[in-house]
Amino acid sequence: MKILAVSDQVIDRLYSGNVKDNYSDINMIVGCGDLPYSYLEFLVTVFNLPLYYVPGNHDPEYGPSPDSRAEGCLNLDGRVIFTKSLLMAGLGGSILYQPGGPNQYSQSEMYLRAYRLLPKIFWSRVRFRRPLDLFITHSPPEGIHDDDDPTHHGLRAINLIIRWAQPRYLFHGHTIFYHQNLDSHIATYQTTKIVNVYPFRVMDI
Ligand SMILES: [Zn+2]
Repeated sequence: MKILAVSDQVIDRLYSGNVKDNYSDINMIVGCGDLPYSYLEFLVTVFNLPLYYVPGNHDPEYGPSPDSRAEGCLNLDGRVIFTKSLLMAGLGGSILYQPGGPNQYSQSEMYLRAYRLLPKIFWSRVRFRRPLDLFITHSPPEGIHDDDDPTHHGLRAINLIIRWAQPRYLFHGHTIFYHQNLDSHIATYQTTKIVNVYPFRVMDI
């Protein structure tokens, strides 16, 4: 399963008419947040493949208005889905750094969101007899691919979900390569491969 994962930055090479020729073997697209929805809508239209995304801190709050969602794509925030033989879950947002900002959460708010998501993951693992294959977030977990500044500190609740739900992969965005993560965009935490997809990666999982 080849996944094109995008986040945070629009890439001209992808936002072009011949992108499908350059990436003809992609099976699915994943958005890890902070991207204009017009970009996601372009990708989903050109590739004609399913696109699952979570919102980032620069995205509007999800709601009924057309501006608040990416048309033709599925917002996976707080949800679990079994598709194309993969079990996937998503949790959007970043650490709270600007009170009132959309898709920003304190550490304790994010724990509450994690506690709501975990039963859905456990139930789906039993129902579909699969591990959680892919967990999509905007923020990195705490201590991995994150940084000390107030905007880019990782969310502890994501570490909790990794420990309890043991996804095979976590894809996240939000952080470029700061001093803590110069070595690699892929880290391992417990048994989970943690992939910083900023600004895009093709991953075969
Ligand atoms: Zn962000």
